[in-house]
Amino acid sequence: MVGLTNESLYSRGLDVIPGGVNSPVRAFRSVGGTPYFVARGEGARVWDVEGVEFLDYVQSYGASILGHAHPAVIGAVRDAATLGTTFGAPTEGEVRLAEELCARVPGMDQVRLVSSGTEAAMSALRLARGVTGRPKVVKFAGHYHGHSDALLASGGSGVADQGLSGSAGVTAGAVADTVVVPWNRVPELDEDVAVVCVEPVAANMGLVPARDGFLAELRAACDRVGALLLFDEVITGFRVDRGGATAMFDVRPDVWCFGKVIGGGLPVGAFGASAEIMSNLAPLGDVYQAGTLSGNPLATAAGLAVLRELTPDAYEQLIATASALADGLASAFGEAGVAAQVPRVGPLVGLFFGSEQPQDYDDAKRSVDGGHYPRWFHGMLSRGIALAPGPYEVMFPSLAHTDADIARTVEAAAEVAADIAAATERAAQEELS
Ligand SMILES: *Cc1c(COP(=O)(O)O)cnc(C)c1O
Repeated sequence: MVGLTNESLYSRGLDVIPGGVNSPVRAFRSVGGTPYFVARGEGARVWDVEGVEFLDYVQSYGASILGHAHPAVIGAVRDAATLGTTFGAPTEGEVRLAEELCARVPGMDQVRLVSSGTEAAMSALRLARGVTGRPKVVKFAGHYHGHSDALLASGGSGVADQGLSGSAGVTAGAVADTVVVPWNRVPELDEDVAVVCVEPVAANMGLVPARDGFLAELRAACDRVGALLLFDEVITGFRVDRGGATAMFDVRPDVWCFGKVIGGGLPVGAFGASAEIMSNLAPLGDVYQAGTLSGNPLATAAGLAVLRELTPDAYEQLIATASALADGLASAFGEAGVAAQVPRVGPLVGLFFGSEQPQDYDDAKRSVDGGHYPRWFHGMLSRGIALAPGPYEVMFPSLAHTDADIARTVEAAAEVAADIAAATERAAQEELS
């Protein structure tokens, strides 16, 4: 029997799945080449179907914070699965996960569980409009809130990566009430605004933190016109801090969205708010929202297992790992003479080529237009380090990444940085001749 190869699977995938992938950024479109097909993962590592090992900084775009196949998660999922996988009646796990989430996030009384971050943001938006009776939603350029129609406009992540401003198939009507504004500037709001959506740490256009005081100013701007403030903590939730960005920055939104970390690698999202706001949801109120697999027993078991591991010590370790990574990468680029920024917020690490840290989406796009990312990506991949195959994603060091892993990453980075410096030099020479 001929062994599976990435090439053969990709080719079969292309026949039956558009682009061969079930999420666009996996397709390697912006970096070129054939995606590796993962056969298995363990801790900080994944192995592709050809048996090649990669040190993994994708970690399912942040869904995996303990590393892959953590024994506590596997055990919890296995135990849950033996009892039945879905019932359409409430289960204890849903109550326990909701209790855990609410206990950790300051100001959040209630959550409803859904099955993805997209669903969380879409439902939160409906809730905000239902509660306020207002139509408009304000979002920041380059922020990603999943792929629901109203929130796709000028989205980060894969939307940015494919060079799209939004999507075909989204009618003018669907986005007529969406206002896109530049990040890190407090927008003019009026009394038609139901909600201002924000990634409190923008992490889908590379990593572009809010400037000092920005979130508090945004809070005040919302209060002046009675608009709700929504923190999309699908990435930051339970990652940047035990209480997410809300605790880290000590600014309280009215509505929250979560995903990724809280599912422990299974499909879960959640949106939450005060009991008063949440009482507008069906069956109590007239904002409808539902889901056959919402609060799925396997997913809640995995989420609870992950949260149990996320002790204060775990956050300290995660941040120390991320700091070592960011500092190591910055010095690797510095020594090679490559202008690069390695922003870090808690355990999140970004990378921009260029001499200045971007402050908004236009800045981020300018950095990406420099074109170094594909060389960086493939240079690292060929040295066994897997990064996201798109320049607008961040790196997700996990609790399974060791000091030795970071050292290896930095060593590889130094070599790739030297390659980038040499290529830049060559291009400059050609320009001259
Ligand atoms: C990933 C992400 C989403 C969408 O979550 P999915 O589970 O992919 O639907 C929404 N908001 C933010 C900030 C994200 O990073």
